[in-house]
Amino acid sequence: MPGFELFGSAERKEVQDVLDSGVLMRYGFDGMRNGHWKAKELEAELQDKLQVNYAQLVSSGTAAVSVAMAVTGVGAGDEVIMPTFTFVASFEAIMMLGAIPVLVDIDDTLTLDPKAVEAAITSRTKAIMPVHMCGSMANLDALQAICKKHNLLLIEDACQAIGGSYKGKPLGSIGDIGCFSFDFVKTITCGEGGAVITNNPTYFKDADQYTDHGHDHKGMDRGAETHPFLGYNFRISELQAAVGLAQARRLYDFVAIQKTHYDILRETLATIPELTFRTVPEGGVESYGFLNFFLPDLEIARKASKGLKDAGVDACFHYFDNNWHYIREWDHLKEIKTLYPVSAEVKKGLEYLQTKTFDQSDHYIARNISCLIKLSWTEDEVKERASKMKIAILEALK
Ligand SMILES: *Cc1c(COP(=O)(O)O)cnc(C)c1O
Repeated sequence: MPGFELFGSAERKEVQDVLDSGVLMRYGFDGMRNGHWKAKELEAELQDKLQVNYAQLVSSGTAAVSVAMAVTGVGAGDEVIMPTFTFVASFEAIMMLGAIPVLVDIDDTLTLDPKAVEAAITSRTKAIMPVHMCGSMANLDALQAICKKHNLLLIEDACQAIGGSYKGKPLGSIGDIGCFSFDFVKTITCGEGGAVITNNPTYFKDADQYTDHGHDHKGMDRGAETHPFLGYNFRISELQAAVGLAQARRLYDFVAIQKTHYDILRETLATIPELTFRTVPEGGVESYGFLNFFLPDLEIARKASKGLKDAGVDACFHYFDNNWHYIREWDHLKEIKTLYPVSAEVKKGLEYLQTKTFDQSDHYIARNISCLIKLSWTEDEVKERASKMKIAILEALK
C-alpha cells in the first residue's frame, strides 16, 4: 500500500479511454462511450478476484459501510457491535442510519475479541462489524458462530485488508456482505471509491439501486425508470473506475510485493526477544499491507515510535495517541457532537461511553506499532529500513 506508488501506463490507458469518449457517468450514454464500461468491468474484476457473485462499486469506503448496513436492513435504534480500534467511518456510518454503535474490546489480533462481542449482545443487536485493521482479521469462525446463535448479520469492513484471506476465502467474502475502500492510501486506489461484495442477490440488487437514487436500472432511458424505494447518490465515476480497473487487475501482484517486503522486515525484527507479533487467527493470511508488533509497555512503545521517526523510518504508527483510529481521542463521539439532532434512543444508547473503560484494548494498542508496507521500495531499501528499525527498537528497550 498505497497502490498509487505503481501508477503507470496501465492506469493512463484506461483513463484515456474515458476521456476520449467523454462519458464520465457509469450509467447510460450507450451510444457515446465506444464500448467502455469501466465501472462494470471493475465490478467483474472484483467478483473474479474476490470470488463472489456480486460486487457493487460506490463512491468511498465510508459509503460502502453505509450501503452495506442499509441493504441488510440496519436502521433506527439497532445496535451494531464494532471494535474500539478502527477508523471513524465505522461509527459515522452507523450514526447516519440512526443506529447505535456499540464499541467493544479488541484482542491480540488487533480486531474484535469474540468474548467481548458475545458479552455486548442485547435484544437490539442487529449486526457485528469486524474491521480487518492493518491487513488482518479477527477469529471469523467464532464471530460467525455468534451470529448464527443470535441471528445477527456479519458485515466485514475489509477496507484495509484487500487481498488477505481466511480459511481459503478472500476477506470481505466471508460474512453477509463485505466493504472495501479505494481511497488515496489503500492497496488498490482510484482517488476516491469503494465497493460492497456479497453472494446475496437481494442485497446486491438493492445496493445497485440504492447507490443511484433507487433507479431500477431496467431500461435505456434513465428518465423513465421507476424508483422502488428512497435511494441516494453513492455512485463512482468512470474516471475513478478506470484507475481502479488498472489497479485491481494487479491486486495479487501488489500483495506479493507487500509480502516480500513484510517478510524481510519481520525476519529482522523477530531476532528481538522482547518483541512479539500480532496474532493472526488459524487459517488467516494477511494482506501484508502492514507489519504489526507489540513491545513490552507503553513507555517503550512511545520511545520506539519516536526513535523510528528520528531515524528517518516513516509510516510507522503508534495508534494509542492517534485521533482517527482509536477510541481514546473520540470525544466527538462520546459527547455526541453532531450537526443535527439525534434521537433520544441514540443518546441513551451511547451513554455507556461516559463510564466504560477499555482496558484490554488499551493493553494491546498502547504497546502496538504498526508499520505500513510500501510497494515502491527496492530490496536494498527494505533491508536498510529493517536494520534501522532494529537499532531504534533495541535503543528503546535499553
Ligand atoms: C479507509 C477506511 C474506511 C473509509 O474509506 P474511505 O474510502 O476513506 O471513505 C473505512 N474503514 C476503514 C477500516 C478504513 O481504513
